[in-house]
Amino acid sequence: MNLPLEPFRIKTVEPIHLVDRQTREKLIREAGFNVFRIPAESIFIDLLTDSGTSAMSDYQWAGIMMGDESYAGSRNFYHLQETVKQIMGFEFLLPTHQGRAAENILFSTVLKKGDVVPNNIHFDTTRANVEYIGATALDCVIDEGLHPEVEHPFKGNMDAEKLNAAIRKYGAEQIPLVSVTLTNNSGGGQPVSMENIRQISRICREHSIPFFFDAARFAENAYFIKLREKEFQNTPVKEIVREMFSYADGCWVSAKKDGLVNIGGFIALKDEALFQKLQNLLILREGFPTYGGLAGRDLEALARGLQDVLQEEYLHYRIEHTAYLGNLLIDAGIPIVKPIGGHAVYIDVKKFLPNIPQSMFPGQALTVALYREGGIRGVEIGSLMFAAKDPQTGEWHYPELELVRLAIPRRVYTVSHLTYVAEILSAIAKNRNQLKGLRLVYEPPFLRHFTAILKEVEL
Ligand SMILES: *Cc1c(COP(=O)(O)O)cnc(C)c1O
Repeated sequence: MNLPLEPFRIKTVEPIHLVDRQTREKLIREAGFNVFRIPAESIFIDLLTDSGTSAMSDYQWAGIMMGDESYAGSRNFYHLQETVKQIMGFEFLLPTHQGRAAENILFSTVLKKGDVVPNNIHFDTTRANVEYIGATALDCVIDEGLHPEVEHPFKGNMDAEKLNAAIRKYGAEQIPLVSVTLTNNSGGGQPVSMENIRQISRICREHSIPFFFDAARFAENAYFIKLREKEFQNTPVKEIVREMFSYADGCWVSAKKDGLVNIGGFIALKDEALFQKLQNLLILREGFPTYGGLAGRDLEALARGLQDVLQEEYLHYRIEHTAYLGNLLIDAGIPIVKPIGGHAVYIDVKKFLPNIPQSMFPGQALTVALYREGGIRGVEIGSLMFAAKDPQTGEWHYPELELVRLAIPRRVYTVSHLTYVAEILSAIAKNRNQLKGLRLVYEPPFLRHFTAILKEVEL
């Protein structure tokens, strides 16, 4: 028996329902074959995202009642500031309502048109925020990170050679920051090793380029370092986290992931001059610096969530729980990204549905099937999210990876829920040749996947 035993018991429950097949068929059509457009009440198992979907602990809920809603100087801000300093070592903190607001404030301040930002792989909102300014988001992940079937303990690592080549090509002046995403969300939730962090940090220092983490899943990344990097097998996770952040000049965080809260984010950094510049924009966009985009109670829940997430028995369960679903799928012969990531299982759709070309959005077709067959919601990370038309030639460029992500909310679903998901996927696998392709009927100018409308087409 290899069960991911939950290190908690359930104190409050939220009912969920599986609506009947006919209703699901009606809803998926009305939603334009885009699962983002289906009302959540009609979803049975919602694996759309692990973002903002965590269950809070009794410790966090107790903190909610301790909210100090003072406009300026809320005690919860000081608690959060102290917590971030203790955990990450950063002196300066700017709370935002979520990660993308932090990206917007940081990038609007340090980037200008024509700049280049290297990252392992930019997350979608990160890329959009870079490109919105007219800068280039350059993905520099190691080659292994682009091949779902290749096993590597740290597939999120940045390729130092690709980074050096970018610095040679553009010059350090055109690269206002280098960022590494922990764990590498768009590349399969794959971790980055301490060795790699040290190496990238060294290169940045050599060229005086600020080095930042996009640190939404910093705790999961640290736990993978403990599991997979020999040097750290006996190091407490808190020390690993401290060392990781010691190599960076700052970070931005979507607290909706490892912050274990339903809303929140922040920027944390060492440089006071930059902090002051960012603070001006924070006031304009989010709010007074001691609350940013959040209520006092939210700040408190976040301070406590950051403590919860670093408990090793929690992290052990978290990684095992995700691996439990992944291993069920492997046993059922469903191709997934390996090794299994921290917060999600990613189905390799190029292999799963080889008969649907990327121009017909095979990943999206699989999300449609998951809802139809089981009321399950996953998300496409592939051609619908990333395919782009070359502005010069008009030619379409499709992403290397065509994935469907089944993200696992933290502390929310049980082992039976995950077993059900694996059973539905096995049923889909048996009839995979009957799945249809899709065509776009409506697309917005950016972050297309959120609101696009599609139509089913015969192959
Ligand atoms: C979620 C996420 C973001 C964006 O944060 P939001 O809170 O959704 O705005 C940025 N980067 C990474 C790696 C993320 O996972």
